[in-house]
Amino acid sequence: MQFQSLKNHNLIQGISSVEFKSINPVNQGLKARKRAIDFLKTITKKNISSKDLVFAKQVFSPDAHICLSKDSGKIIKNTDALISNIPGQILGITTADCLPILLFDPKKRVVGAIHGGRQCLIDGIIKNTVNKMIVNFKSSPKDILVCFGPHIRKCHYSLKEKTYQGLKKTGFKKYFIRQKNNNQKEKVYFDMTKLAFDNFIDLGIKKKNMEDCSVCTFCRSEKYFSFRKQEEDLKFNPDKKLIFASFIGLK
Ligand SMILES: [Zn+2]
Repeated sequence: MQFQSLKNHNLIQGISSVEFKSINPVNQGLKARKRAIDFLKTITKKNISSKDLVFAKQVFSPDAHICLSKDSGKIIKNTDALISNIPGQILGITTADCLPILLFDPKKRVVGAIHGGRQCLIDGIIKNTVNKMIVNFKSSPKDILVCFGPHIRKCHYSLKEKTYQGLKKTGFKKYFIRQKNNNQKEKVYFDMTKLAFDNFIDLGIKKKNMEDCSVCTFCRSEKYFSFRKQEEDLKFNPDKKLIFASFIGLK
């Protein structure tokens, strides 16, 4: 998948699907890098080197890292968002239900990739990332393009009891939706998409500059890996979680 709004900007951008298999740079090392390169070569028709890729060792934090040239080829520890203005450097974020977000400022030529896990979003990763683009690269929010990749949506993102209890007295409860599941049991669902969207609007990002692919990973698990769907499989091993990757870089 590639985003329409990021085309014609001289970028490398796209999101891998199940044909490219699981891309997990932290657990799989070289195998993940090879799969990432297979995907990037397919979408760019160009030669991409493993040394061009920067991944994040995602820890469900709200922290964003500004990449330097020396970060190319590395996995950056303890961060869930990456920012770069270095041509040829490709940022990679991995997800399987969490919200992958790609950002681009066409005026200052800065790219960003966010792992939008629920906890990252609640703790302010969107604000932290956009603010770093403003402070370090003089980006203006009105110029920034934002793209939402496949993630679990309000149709399937039911909250576990413990999570529900933790959030029900916070401002985030406005993203709760009560609806019946397939067994006609009423459950609380979470609208992560709306939470992220509202965050960007509050920061001054324009609605017309946001693109949402509209795919729910659980609904479309044959195409994009869904952690919740994998959990339904009784033989599921959490260490073998299948994930896909979202990429953005300046050419
Ligand atoms: Zn769904």
